Amino acid sequence: MKALVYHGTKDVRIDTVPDAKIEKPTDVVVRITTTNICGSDLHMYEGRTDVEKGKILGHENLGEVEAVGGAVVSVKVGDHVCLPFNIGCGFCANCERGLTGFCLTCALPGSAGAAYGFAGMGPYSGGQAEYLRVPYADFNCLQLPADAKAKESDYVMLSDIFPTGWHATVLAGMNPGDSVVIYGAGPVGLMAALSARIRGASKIMIVDRHPDRLQLAEQIGAISINDSKGDAVEQVLALTEGAGADCGCEAVGYQCHDHHGHEVPNLTMNNLVSSVKATGGIGVIGVFIPKDPGAVDALAKKGQIVLDFGKLWSKGQKIASGQANVKQYNRKLRDLIHAGIAKPSIIISHELPLDQAPAAYKNFDERTAGWTKVILKPTA
Ligand SMILES: [Zn+2]
Ligand SMILES: [Zn+2]
Repeated sequence: MKALVYHGTKDVRIDTVPDAKIEKPTDVVVRITTTNICGSDLHMYEGRTDVEKGKILGHENLGEVEAVGGAVVSVKVGDHVCLPFNIGCGFCANCERGLTGFCLTCALPGSAGAAYGFAGMGPYSGGQAEYLRVPYADFNCLQLPADAKAKESDYVMLSDIFPTGWHATVLAGMNPGDSVVIYGAGPVGLMAALSARIRGASKIMIVDRHPDRLQLAEQIGAISINDSKGDAVEQVLALTEGAGADCGCEAVGYQCHDHHGHEVPNLTMNNLVSSVKATGGIGVIGVFIPKDPGAVDALAKKGQIVLDFGKLWSKGQKIASGQANVKQYNRKLRDLIHAGIAKPSIIISHELPLDQAPAAYKNFDERTAGWTKVILKPTA
């Protein structure tokens, strides 16, 4: 089969590799009809993780079931399914509590959490390929309704960014009527804005500097804040009568840059402490990693940042963090799409065949204007 393979820093290629196949009776194999390039793929693309060469990337996957293992009971050949990016077993201590992003069975020994095609998240191949092996298929496959094909570009966002954006607002403790500030108007930040709107936020402010992204944010109903045109914190305070937002979301992660292009790993976290009100919550779904050999300074190499902890403490704020447990949300978010209430596909800028993925990585990585979200069509 054809697949997008990591060969090294800024070097991904379409290779011919052995077909994905059933390895355990609890597996299915899915023929991938849509798979996305994610912002978190770029950490690997840029050589800022320890991902191994030869890995097939791609954790945002949707397709049609091609083959079914002997112990699978609820998934049939031909079913249209969307796969959560995190792989769960369904029976470990964390999965039992719904914390499927921290599965103990599927993770590498001594860690928690597994995913397709991702650094440090187990041996699983990604879905930027014609076929994908799905472990514990009964648990991991989300069945799609009769409009699966018609709304495929919406449903594929259930694999990661829509639930992750939703999770950001949950981690932030957002309630109906709250104001919320979101740092980062990339795909996940935009999904956090969409989620905040659906969940009843009274005011959604989103900080970024790319005009194409800020324009999408406004289409979703957010107030756009361009931090290259003035201090982000001051702009948030001006919009909240000096008090700060009720809660905030971090959707940038450790590779955040100031508007001069310098990498400042603690920029968004400290801006959140300053632009969220006293007692407010901060939800962090932007990726931070424990080891970053390519980092700009000695602290960041160890995954550490200098946090305004005194200010955070005196304001009585709460921080909650971590990857989204996609299965906590994907079924209900599917129903919002099916009902026409959510249309996450509005952020898609490019729909391309798999062959064009290497060029797409380059454009997305360079933040080429207009490249907001790329979806790939390996077998459509
Ligand atoms: Zn993703
Ligand atoms: Zn588990």
